[in-house]
Amino acid sequence: MVRLILAGIALVLVALVGFVGYRTMSFTAPPPPSDVAVPDTSAYVIDVPTAAAHLSEAIRFRTVSLVTPEEDRTPFTEFQAWMIATYPAFNAAARREMVNDLTVIYTWEGSDPAQPPLLLLAHQDVVPVPDDTRAAWSVDPFGGEIRDEAVWGRGAIDDKGSLVLLLEAAEYLAKQGKRPVRTIIFAFGHDEELGGEDGAVQVAALLAERGVRAWFVLDEGMAALSEHPLTGGPASMIGISERGFGTMRVHAVGQPGHSSMPPPETAVSLVSEAVVRIHDMPIEQRLEGGPALDMMRALAPEISLTNRMAVANEWLFGPLLRERMAQDRTARALMGTTVAPTMLNGGVRPNVLPAEATAMINYRFHPRDTAAEILERARGEVADLEGVDVDWADTPREATATSSTTSASYALLAALSTAVMPDAPVAPGLVLAGTDSRNYSEVAENVYRFQPMMFGADDLAGIHGTNEHLSFANLDRTIRFYIGLMEAGAMQ
Ligand SMILES: [Zn+2]
Repeated sequence: MVRLILAGIALVLVALVGFVGYRTMSFTAPPPPSDVAVPDTSAYVIDVPTAAAHLSEAIRFRTVSLVTPEEDRTPFTEFQAWMIATYPAFNAAARREMVNDLTVIYTWEGSDPAQPPLLLLAHQDVVPVPDDTRAAWSVDPFGGEIRDEAVWGRGAIDDKGSLVLLLEAAEYLAKQGKRPVRTIIFAFGHDEELGGEDGAVQVAALLAERGVRAWFVLDEGMAALSEHPLTGGPASMIGISERGFGTMRVHAVGQPGHSSMPPPETAVSLVSEAVVRIHDMPIEQRLEGGPALDMMRALAPEISLTNRMAVANEWLFGPLLRERMAQDRTARALMGTTVAPTMLNGGVRPNVLPAEATAMINYRFHPRDTAAEILERARGEVADLEGVDVDWADTPREATATSSTTSASYALLAALSTAVMPDAPVAPGLVLAGTDSRNYSEVAENVYRFQPMMFGADDLAGIHGTNEHLSFANLDRTIRFYIGLMEAGAMQ
């Protein structure tokens, strides 16, 4: 009898090991559609010094986002005049229009109006250089200096790099007399760093009004990393979704008066209790149901066998995996909605009971969660706390829809990435910040966020930070990628 039981257990174990092993081995991304033809991007003759000089000129226009209407618009209008003067062949071929005076749309009409257009985004505005960070810059942030095989200054990557190099690519093709078959629309917003309300939101509304439904949108948001945290090696990350954003306001009222004979709860104790409960409210952390699992699948061949086994068998190793990933902030942000209590306010004197107290809790929504569900659950957590109410401080922004990783457009981007960065396997990713592209979900079949550039820690530190620069190597591959994209995506 005992032998029979042992044999039974052994059989189950063998089956389990076999199943885990099978899942581990078969854990990989589905192959992309095979009908993607990509031109030989190495055959393009790129004049890197001239392109670098152009990016350098673009950086010198101080197009810091305009916070108030009184601020000087001249840097923007001068930058726009520069685009016209610098790219004559493209400007002759495309139609230019303005939205809200400062956002630029170029439409390069295709010969076949039946084909849904390609929509390429970049933004003209840059974040400021705060005075207290100026000393950490080794160059003038608005000087556009060229040295050490790179172009330096605010916006070199974010996002004048994309804008200028898109124009370089378009000019390259227009100069050769090439014309698109599929219409290419370029939309260059002027307030991306402020949320895109006056730029991207209006452009998307205009396109919707015209009945435009793009084949796909390409914007900034992700790029290739020379050391991907998951594999330690290079990986090219195409953003397929963007997290949402919302700030929850927790408000408590209490009995005002002297604190010498207090009631059991004060506005401060109530709001504290509410914040702790809402902060501790369990939020699903899982690889599945978001871009994280797709990313792991795509990078599976590069991941160590033990990690791959754990990821491929989340049903078995889930708790262990989640515990490990939860220790890493980036990984946690990929697996679920994040919660951060950020503000507390209440009371004016230490011996006076406040009539009210408030707290703010900042959320970044994972694509699987909605703002409404989170709010409903938060309200449930504090339902028994009398005098406490919870609501969004402003209208929350949901996470975007998740774009396809099996579409022909994704396959085209992936193939072009491989053409210019052959060492970097391509994987989908979740964009943790915000971009203009989130406003275009309604006017495009798919929305992708990808700069065809390879970044190390040094490059990443420049974005919204100090010593922002774009290397010549990145400049060169980005132009090749964009030319290839326009040729393969819109000219055949
Ligand atoms: Zn940007």
